[in-house]
Amino acid sequence: MFVSTRRTFLKAASVGLAAPFAFGQSSGQAPKIETTQLGDNLYLLSGAGGNVIARTGADSAVMVDGGLAQNAGALAQAVAALPNSGPVKTLFNTHWHPEQTGSNARLGTAGATIIAQENTRLWLQQNITWPWNGQKFKKFAKVAQPNKTFYDKGTLDSGIRYGYISDAAHTDGDLYVYFSQQNVLAVGDAAYGQGWPVVDWWTGGWIGGIVGGLQRILTVANKDTKIVPAVGPVLSLADITVQVDMYGTIFDKLNQMLNKGRSPSEAVEAKVAKDFEAKMGNPDEFIRRSFESLWAYNSPDA
Ligand SMILES: [Zn+2]
Repeated sequence: MFVSTRRTFLKAASVGLAAPFAFGQSSGQAPKIETTQLGDNLYLLSGAGGNVIARTGADSAVMVDGGLAQNAGALAQAVAALPNSGPVKTLFNTHWHPEQTGSNARLGTAGATIIAQENTRLWLQQNITWPWNGQKFKKFAKVAQPNKTFYDKGTLDSGIRYGYISDAAHTDGDLYVYFSQQNVLAVGDAAYGQGWPVVDWWTGGWIGGIVGGLQRILTVANKDTKIVPAVGPVLSLADITVQVDMYGTIFDKLNQMLNKGRSPSEAVEAKVAKDFEAKMGNPDEFIRRSFESLWAYNSPDA
C-alpha cells in the first residue's frame, strides 16, 4: 500500500537535491591517527574517518575497516608502526560506506584478501546517489572490490569469527567480526558510539533493522566484551541494552505515526525522540530518515 507513496516521495526528493559534493577530496593535512590497545596483538586506530581495528602478527596483520581513502596512507603507516606488525593480508569491510572502504584500493592492489558480505560487494560495483542529499559514490575498480564474500558467517584462522547482521541495521551488507581471544567485537555502523546513526535506507538500512541489529549484537557479545562501533568510543553490553530500549521506543512511535498516514515532516515535528535529545543531540535528521526508511522497507519493489 505504500508503493505509490514512496514513488511520490522519491520524485519529491529528487527535485530538492542538494548540490553533490566531491567525495574524497584531500584537505592537504595528514590525519592524526590515535592508537589504543584492546587486547593481545589487537589495536583500535581512530582518526582515519572511522574506527579501524588491527590484529598484528609477524607473518600477517588483519584489519577491520580501512578509514577514508585520503587517509589510507597515514593509516597504513600507523598499522605498520604497531608492535609485531607484519603486512596486512586480510581486510574486512563491515559495509560499503567510504569511511570503511578507503583502504580497499591500496590493500587490494597489494594482494590482500578483502572480506565482505556479498551485498557489500554488489554495492561497491555500482554508482550510488543518496536521494536525500544528492551525495554520490563512485563504483570501485575491480582490484578494490571485496574478493572473498559470504552470505551468513565464517571463520578466519585462530580466533576470528565473522557473520552477517542480516537485520539491515545500517545497510543490507553489515557484518560483525569477533576476536574471541581478546573478547572484542567489531560491529561497524550497526551500533553507534556517539550521536544518531545515518539511516541509509537507499542501500537497505532501516529503523527496525537498527533494533534488530542491536539485539543480534547482544547474542554475540557477553558482559565483558568490548564492542567497537565505527563511530565513537568502545561500548559495553550494557550500553547496547540501553540503545535497544531507546531505538525500540522510537521505532514503535514512528510505526504508529506511519499507520496513521503521517509524513516524515510530521514525524519530526512530533518530537518522538525528545527524551533522548540531551544525551544524543538534535534528532531531526535521524527521525526524518528513519520515517522514510519505514516507507522504503514497506515497499521493497518501489
Ligand atoms: Zn556507514
